[in-house]
Amino acid sequence: MNHPTNHFFHHTPDSLTDWCARHDMPAFRAKQLMEWVYVKGVADPALMTSLSARDRDLLASEMTFISGETVAHQVATDATQKLLVQWDDHISPRAATSLNILGGENCNDASRQTECVMIPSHEEADSGAPKRRTACISSQVGCPVGCKFCASGMGGLDGNLSAGRIVEQAWRLGLLEGVGRISHIVFMGMGEPLANFTNVVHAVRTLTSPWGMGISARKVTISTVGLPKAIERLAEQLDLPVTLALSLHAPTDAIRRRLIPWAEYTTIEELLDACDSWYRKTGREITLEYTLISRVNDRPEHARELAKVAKSLRANVNLIRLNEVKGIHFKRPTDEDVRTFQGILRDRGVNAHIRASRGRDIAAACGQLRHERVTA
Ligand code: SAH
Ligand code: SF4
Repeated sequence: MNHPTNHFFHHTPDSLTDWCARHDMPAFRAKQLMEWVYVKGVADPALMTSLSARDRDLLASEMTFISGETVAHQVATDATQKLLVQWDDHISPRAATSLNILGGENCNDASRQTECVMIPSHEEADSGAPKRRTACISSQVGCPVGCKFCASGMGGLDGNLSAGRIVEQAWRLGLLEGVGRISHIVFMGMGEPLANFTNVVHAVRTLTSPWGMGISARKVTISTVGLPKAIERLAEQLDLPVTLALSLHAPTDAIRRRLIPWAEYTTIEELLDACDSWYRKTGREITLEYTLISRVNDRPEHARELAKVAKSLRANVNLIRLNEVKGIHFKRPTDEDVRTFQGILRDRGVNAHIRASRGRDIAAACGQLRHERVTA
């Protein structure tokens, strides 16, 4: 097994330059490698024709470039594409062992699979090419939070993804046919990004660096179930003006605790304080995500309560209709209930959008593809 820091996508220009020097390569090698991978989309050293044969061989034997295999690739009727990636070895064994899920022979394929999704959008385009190309990526294998409506958390956490593997997902999606340069990244795949803080922040630096994926940090959205301390810590990464989305899903602690086990440890008030401090430190507003579940949190009184919360934060609200998941008994709300809910928010001056469901025919809900393979 290669150590995660010897994975190409983990490297910064400095660490790669050091690595090249230690392997007797010329000083300009690191820059050439970054260009081959991030600009030309080539990650096989054998194809890097501007390198000496000796260095190509050395790179092929000593450094990991591609650290997993695509085991499923689906294309939806709306052109959304989804990849299920099986990573080469066990994921972050320390986290896994503590949960006694992983380890040697007991490890099954699903415990090292994650999914990522490419969502092209024509909303603002005047030509044929998609204007927005959003990569939705995972930060963990499984999820430790276990929200009652989400497939990703149903089997608990198998482990953290390394920074390199987080970046590799976006790079893979950018190479899919007909996609072109990725314009936006959302951490809305599997896992709770702020529970894998160091790797996620390292990955965001690569995703947003001119030498890396070159995506504007404002177009990177980190979606979190709400860990107040980690939100404050993220606000301190002032070189990374990312967008923060808070998955609120309920206007009261009582309802939130029914849906999100980790809501036991924190109150909405504490979350609002953390968001307030985020705003004061960064000057950037947050978005509230609210998954509407029939008769659980989609009633008019919930909308009225949510309007108060959103106004106190000056936050936009993204309304997400529940995607039904096998084994989960919550119901998707009716279109009429969703429109009524949105109307109540708008009447109170809250900017509320209903998120379009993309790629439903290839299992739109986060974690659903992997979940279907596990339960099949
Ligand atoms: N753990 C983070 C990021 C990944 S989940 C978080 O919870 O924010 C990203 C989004 O997917 C969350 O807003 C979540 O509400 C949504 N989601 C999860 N399961 C869903 C389902 N069954 N239907 C619709 N949205 C779902
Ligand atoms: Fe984890 Fe987010 Fe799914 Fe909750 S909604 S289980 S936090 S991935």
